[in-house]
Amino acid sequence: MGIAFIDLQAQRARISDKIDAAIAKVLDHGAFIMGPEVRELEAQLSAFSGAPHSVGCANGTEALSLPLMAWNIRPGDAVFCPSFTFTATAEVVPWLGAAPVFVDIDPKTYNMDPASLEAAIEDTIAQGHLKPKAIIAVDLFGQPADYPAIKALADKYEIKLISDSAQGFGCTIGGKHPIEWADVVTTSFFPAKPLGCYGDGGAIQVKTQDMWDLLDSLRVHGKATQADMDAAKYSGHESKYLNPRIGMNSRLDSIQAAILLEKLAIFADEIESREAVARRYNAGLEGHVKAVPFVKDEYQSVWAQYTIEVDNREAVQAELREKGIPTAVYYPVPMHMQGPYSRFPTSPGGLPVTEEKRSVVMSLPMHPYLDTETQDVIIDGVKAAVS
Ligand SMILES: *Cc1c(COP(=O)(O)O)cnc(C)c1O
Repeated sequence: MGIAFIDLQAQRARISDKIDAAIAKVLDHGAFIMGPEVRELEAQLSAFSGAPHSVGCANGTEALSLPLMAWNIRPGDAVFCPSFTFTATAEVVPWLGAAPVFVDIDPKTYNMDPASLEAAIEDTIAQGHLKPKAIIAVDLFGQPADYPAIKALADKYEIKLISDSAQGFGCTIGGKHPIEWADVVTTSFFPAKPLGCYGDGGAIQVKTQDMWDLLDSLRVHGKATQADMDAAKYSGHESKYLNPRIGMNSRLDSIQAAILLEKLAIFADEIESREAVARRYNAGLEGHVKAVPFVKDEYQSVWAQYTIEVDNREAVQAELREKGIPTAVYYPVPMHMQGPYSRFPTSPGGLPVTEEKRSVVMSLPMHPYLDTETQDVIIDGVKAAVS
């Protein structure tokens, strides 16, 4: 057996009885889509992160598009986001005819650089073709973005702030979750994310009941909200057949919600285990590789990835592959360098940090069940490969 990059089977072994029972319960009651487990999960996600409300949806990509739809983001609007991220962050913006404006990253955290963000907003205003409307900050590799600084800019320019926490659900700054600063926080339950299900799933955390109602409508084909129903012109009709706005199908399956409820119950414990694995990597690799991950004071990463910097990356990866040690590169080609996205604007001065980091970053196996023996094999392998 080779070393797993992410070992989902170890987690399954820990709670398989509970997960199997939870799935069986859904099979028995038969409410497969948006059943009682979805509402229960929404309540538990809110309790976990202190968010006032949570909305389950089909995946982490649509979790990003639904709030943009709710805010009526449209052609002529600018949405500021990093280029050094998974495609979905930027992809949802042109879905609505709007333009992503790519912002550079901090060289140590790889998260959105507030100075580059402000320069991009100022430049967009000066150019006058696009209207600044929203920021999507990403909690890359599990570490929260610099929300205090980014929120100050969102307030200054009166634009919305989304936290794309697909990799960071559970991350905190000074004990507070991103919803403290962001208008909405989105996440993905793709199996390999820190909190993953056994298929596709996602969620959106919001601050008001009105926003919850609107997103609940948009995820089910723009169905009528209670407020719509109460409006005189709709009284007497059934909400199922009223569609006062254009929505989509982004419902969450009950089976996925049932699985997530069991996984959420051990998630805090798993974050602690991930932290212990990361510290052990740091202790073993610091001084040997070009850089080990930098996490800011008071910031808690959930360690979706453990990402180091090395020279001669391809050779290092090849040597590790021969020893059965898997590695991955997130992200070799940033968004602004990819064909369909290269026509969108970047922060003035371009994205030099993004373009530098894409060639040196390399992620190592990371999951809460990585045992110390295996980790020592990985650490020794990396040290040998870089020397
Ligand atoms: C995984 C991911 C998404 C998309 O989530 P899906 O559930 O796969 O649609 C969005 N943003 C980031 C940063 C991600 O890592």
